[in-house]
Parts: sequence; structure tokens; C-alpha cells
Amino acid sequence: MHRFDADTADLLRAVFDATRLRLGFDQVPLDGPAAPADLAARVGQTITAGGLGGRRALELFDEVLARACISADHPRNLAFIPAAPTRSSVMFDLLVGASSIYGGSWMEGAGAVHAENEALRWLADLAGLPAGAGGVFVPGGTVGNLSALVAARHAARVRLIAAGRPLPSTWRFVCGDEAHSSLYQAAAVLDAEIVPISTGPDGRLTGPLLAAALDRLARESASDDSVGLGGEAAGRDAASLGVFAVVATAGTTQFGTVDDIRGIVDVARTHDLWVHADGAYGLAALAAPSARARFDGIADVDSFIVDPHKWLFAPYDACALLYRDPAQALAAHGPQRAGYLEVLDSAANWNPSDYAVGLSRRARGLPFWFSLATHGTQAYADAIETTLTTTRAAAAQIAARPELELVREPELSVVVFRRRGWTEPDYHRWSGGLLRAGFAFTPPTCIDGETVARFAIINPRTTSEDIAAILSTML
Ligand SMILES: *Cc1c(COP(=O)(O)O)cnc(C)c1O
Repeated sequence: MHRFDADTADLLRAVFDATRLRLGFDQVPLDGPAAPADLAARVGQTITAGGLGGRRALELFDEVLARACISADHPRNLAFIPAAPTRSSVMFDLLVGASSIYGGSWMEGAGAVHAENEALRWLADLAGLPAGAGGVFVPGGTVGNLSALVAARHAARVRLIAAGRPLPSTWRFVCGDEAHSSLYQAAAVLDAEIVPISTGPDGRLTGPLLAAALDRLARESASDDSVGLGGEAAGRDAASLGVFAVVATAGTTQFGTVDDIRGIVDVARTHDLWVHADGAYGLAALAAPSARARFDGIADVDSFIVDPHKWLFAPYDACALLYRDPAQALAAHGPQRAGYLEVLDSAANWNPSDYAVGLSRRARGLPFWFSLATHGTQAYADAIETTLTTTRAAAAQIAARPELELVREPELSVVVFRRRGWTEPDYHRWSGGLLRAGFAFTPPTCIDGETVARFAIINPRTTSEDIAAILSTML
């Protein structure tokens, strides 16, 4: 298994051939799901005492398993937030895997960590974070949000203790009511309460809405003796109310709505409140001149995330997590303590695992770094602008078709619309048919109980002709 022999050489050729085929498609097949019993019948028992041999295992993957996975990078895959990794990022992912790099510490992965930090720096510069900013690539936005919130709570706790003030019985963070589901998971892991703030019809959390919510929490706590943390001080420092962070969403998943980051930051400053921006999907558009202004205020947040595996054209799985002041994240997350870890010396070295939940890590920022280094940042700006142009064309087509109606004007690259006269089963029949035909993946979404259609356009190879062809199937 560990020697390089003739069988290994043969298998290497076969794996490269399969990779070359997948990378070489002008348009990848969409493929689609299969039932468990169907897969079991077609591949049989794959884990055996003697092994199937690499050729056979590869054949099963190629002919059965891979075909039962929807291609996230198909240009007519507009579901959830799809993916569109560059060819160079995918190629380099192979080499990263072959290089056995441990990316958790500087001692073990200095070269890889240096390159990852270059890519993180580009993102920090796009946002306008100061020179001291830094962070780490984590597996996804969910872990990124959780890790940032862990750091925020730690900072609030330390501040209360230093001031000799009592700790709250319940920790909370606030966000808009259209914020991502991963925040609810983070709240559960943190054993914290999430306080979703009702937004208006545009779905945006604003400074005034945040201020009103903090006032309401202060009044509730003042009238609640069991908490006993109300009054003057509580009005100024949100931590006294147990509120340790506000999450501003920089592009909701449902609509692409960007919160009023400037207004949120301004209110948060008067309450000593940590601002985390969840830009897992949307903050990629910082690179696009036509969208940048929507993120005004992002330079002043305490932390943010953006997923290169979404709209920054990298393979799964990579979320960039950035902190304005990484020392606060280090205080919360690192270093893990063990006699054998002391040589890693977190005081002297930048150890990525000190800045998020986790220890061992793949240098998962490298495929993104390689592609950025290869193509340059202008190519990223252009590719994101292309998707924004396609989105505007999609919205115009929808507005022009009498049977269709936009639910909201798109802000970034998500378009939500209804087909007049359709009910839930119609949408499912339509999208199921497109997937079975291998033509498009466009599952509907649900908004206030109503099923409607939704396209997320992040692939620069999605054209307005693709959109027209899909819309024509809704007649
Ligand atoms: C996708 C998404 C997340 C979660 O990111 P994962 O990488 O899927 O864990 C969080 N927030 C927003 C706004 C997202 O779009």
C-alpha cells in the first residue's frame, strides 16, 4: 500500500485519466441522486478483506457513485449556493492532497500557512481591515461563524470580569430574522440564546432596528429581578445584558440581501458590541466594483467570514475567517494545551489552529491561493461582475414575462420569483423534471409559507441564454 510499484503507477495513470476527463469537459454532466438500495445493488460490497483493487474501485466511482452526485459546477445548477471552482484551483487541490501538509501550525506547515495568509490578506484588504488583521481557513461558514462567536463571547466575558461586573445567566447574540440557519446551530453549540430581530419587507437589519432591539432587551432585563443587570450601565454595554455580538449578514442565502453594516457598526460601537459579518456567500462581491458600495462599514467589523467554495471559485471545503484583532481570537481558541504541543510556541508563531475550533487541518486555503496567484485578482473581479450581469439579465427577463413576477429586486446574484398560478406541487414537479432530464437544478424555496422559484448565479459560465432556456420551461 505504501510502496510505489507497477500497480501504483498504473493506478496513478487511471486516476489522472479520470481527472483529466472531468476537468476537460466543456460542460460537465449534471448527474443526479439515486436511492440507497439502487446504489447498494449496483456497487455491491465495496469493503472487503482482500480489497477490490484500485482499478475496480475507481470504475465503481466513475460509473456509479460519481454519477449519483449532482455536479455543483454545472452552469445550470442554480440551487442553494452552488460552486464554480477554477480549473487551476481544482488541479492544485490534487497536489495539496499529494503533499501531506499539516496546516495547523507554522512549524509544520510554514510555507503553506504563508501562502494561505497571503490569500487571507487579499480578502482583508478588500474589506479594509487593518494591517494586524488575520485569520484562518476553516471547513465552512458554519464553523467560521461559530469560531468568531466563540471569540466574541470570550472577549465580552473577559471584559465583564476585568470590570468586576457580574456575568449574565444567559449569553445572547442578535442578528436579522433572515440570517443563516448556521447561526442557530452556533447558538445551540454555545448554549447561547439567539435573538432574531424582525426586519421590514426588505429583510435588512439596520442600525435603528439594532438600537431598538438593544433598548428592548435593556428594559426587559431592568424589569426582571432574576437577572438584575439592568439600569444605566446595561444601556451602554451590551455585555451586561448578556449580548456579546451582533451578526450582520453580508448577503443572505435566501435573497442575497445585505444588512446595513455601517448603521449596525455605529450602534454597536456605542454598546461595546462585537460585530461579526456573515458574508459566507455575499462578501465575495467585495471584489466587484459594481457591488462594493453595498458593504459600506465592513472595514469596521470585528470579524467576518467568506467562503471561497461559494462565489470565489475554489473547491470544497474552504471558509476564510478573518479577525480585526487576532489576539482576541487567540485568547479564546488557542493554544490547545498538551506537553507535546508546547514546541509549537503560539507566542512566537502564527499557528492557524489557534484561531478557530479544531486542531489538525488540511491547508485548505491553498487551492484558492494557487488560483489567485495564477490568474491575478482582476480575473476574480471580472468573473464576479459577469455573474452580476447575468443576474441582472435574469431579473429583466423575469420582469418581462407576464407569467413571472420578481419577489424582490436582486441585490447580489440571487433571484427569487414566482410563477403566477403555480402552487407548491407545480414547482416541485417542474424542478424535479429538469433534474431528471439532466438539464438544470433549480429547487424551489419557501418564503413566509409560499413556495417560489429561486436561482443563485455564481458560475461565470452561466449565461443569460441558460436562464432563458430554464424560464421557458415554466410556461
Ligand atoms: C452558506 C452559508 C453559511 C454556511 O456556510 P457553510 O460553508 O455551508 O458551512 C453561512 N452563512 C451564509 C450567509 C451562507 O450563505
